[in-house]
Order: sequence, then structure tokens, then C-alpha cells
Amino acid sequence: MTGHRTRLDATTGQILDHLDTRHLPAGELLLRCGNRRATRCPACSNVYRYDTYQLIAAGLRGGKTVPTSVSTHPRLRHPHRPRLRPRP
Ligand SMILES: [Zn+2]
Repeated sequence: MTGHRTRLDATTGQILDHLDTRHLPAGELLLRCGNRRATRCPACSNVYRYDTYQLIAAGLRGGKTVPTSVSTHPRLRHPHRPRLRPRP
């Protein structure tokens, strides 16, 4: 992405910050493509992989707004394994 942006204080008109992509190291603002496939974008697929790990880990041991008490009552069940007792 190329261009510039200037943020002003709405009441005083003072310049709060200014960004011009010509002054960035790459000469443009680099944005994530967000593709989850490693063959398409290794960098974005790594971010997705790390996010997925954190979601699964939080569901098993708590964290990321999930209480740690979740680790004492896991609700894991093999999707193809029959239940031990039939439902009443
Ligand atoms: Zn990407």
C-alpha cells in the first residue's frame, strides 16, 4: 500500500502524526495477505498456525479469557467412538 496519512487534533488542528509510505524501509506499507496455505504464503500460514495452537491450548488448560478450571474437566471425545452408556 502506498500513500500518506495525517492525524490532526479535532479541536486544535495540531498534527498528531504523519505517515508517508515513501519514507518506510520498503517504500510502501506491507500488509498481511491472511492466506492460511503455506504454499501460498508461509508467513501468514505461520501466524494462523500459532493462533490455532493458542486456541487449542486455552481450551485445554485455560488462559486467553478461558478459566483455568477448564483443565479439570476436559470434554474430549473421539467423534467416531460410541458412547459407553446409551442415552436414556
Ligand atoms: Zn500472507
